[in-house]
Amino acid sequence: MAIVPAAAVVKTARAADAGFERIDTHNHIHRGAPALVAAMERTGWRGLSICDSREVGDQVSVLPQMIPGTAQFHRESNKRWAWATTFDPRGFEKPDFAERVIAGLDHDFAQEAIAVKVWKNVGMGIRAASGRYLLPDDAALLPVYEHIQKSGRTLICHLAEPNGAWEPLDGRNSESGYLKSHPEWHMYGKEAPSKETILAARDRVIAKFPKLRVIGCHLGSNEEDLERLAQRLKALPNFVVDVASRVRYLMAADREKARQFVLTHQDRLLYATDFTLGAGDDARAAASLEATHDREWNYFATGETVQARNGQTMGLELPEAVLRKIFRENAVKVLTGILG
Ligand SMILES: [Zn+2]
Repeated sequence: MAIVPAAAVVKTARAADAGFERIDTHNHIHRGAPALVAAMERTGWRGLSICDSREVGDQVSVLPQMIPGTAQFHRESNKRWAWATTFDPRGFEKPDFAERVIAGLDHDFAQEAIAVKVWKNVGMGIRAASGRYLLPDDAALLPVYEHIQKSGRTLICHLAEPNGAWEPLDGRNSESGYLKSHPEWHMYGKEAPSKETILAARDRVIAKFPKLRVIGCHLGSNEEDLERLAQRLKALPNFVVDVASRVRYLMAADREKARQFVLTHQDRLLYATDFTLGAGDDARAAASLEATHDREWNYFATGETVQARNGQTMGLELPEAVLRKIFRENAVKVLTGILG
């Protein structure tokens, strides 16, 4: 009989059972999905379903279906999923823009929306009649942020993208797969704001509204530069970031550097996946979400070997108190109302 070292047994047990209910703070689920809710109840997860206003130019908005669908999912999930609303920024040059947006947000807050999302089409896609790009700190948006702050809701920002969006599509561009199928988000060669211009505009908003709790999705779009992200977190106390769809960047970084970053910023990180529910088999989608949760939990919680893009690495083996913050307590603080 093989002798299993005690430590290995403990690690495996921890990977299977966290011992507390975890929160995935970045999902996109906009319709009823009882099989998914049942699966997450069984595995001990809650979530936040986020609406995105992704349209540019004269594309037809999906929000008239997406917003009520998400509110309904929130109710049908028995509040296991909280929800975040959004607004269409394209009317920003109209005189009644802020008034109309605020009325829409108030309607959604009354339906228990706990946060508001702003997407990367601000900075990278939406343009004024003059041709200039709408930036996150445009004067037209300030009354909206002020209202979110006053209402005690959270602002969720996916602004800018990985560096590859501003770089040529050569063999070294790690985003080339995505950019080939989404050329509209490839800024290289376009007369468009730089990544730093967009992030600096975002940071001015965060600084201007110090009581507004702001979440930067995808490691705040500094996924390739944890030192730059650390500077931003230091400068902006009301700013936290989620790791949605970016755990792969942590895995690909030097393990000790990634571990130190996570330990140093243990109060400023939110666990999230960016799971999106499509059409089709919900039980299968739930199994895929469960597999992502398990793989990424193992990376943060255990010292097990994981497969990264650039080879194998070891899990971060974080202390239990840190895991509780990243997988639950930080979300409870930053996303007021997430527990229903
Ligand atoms: Zn997302």
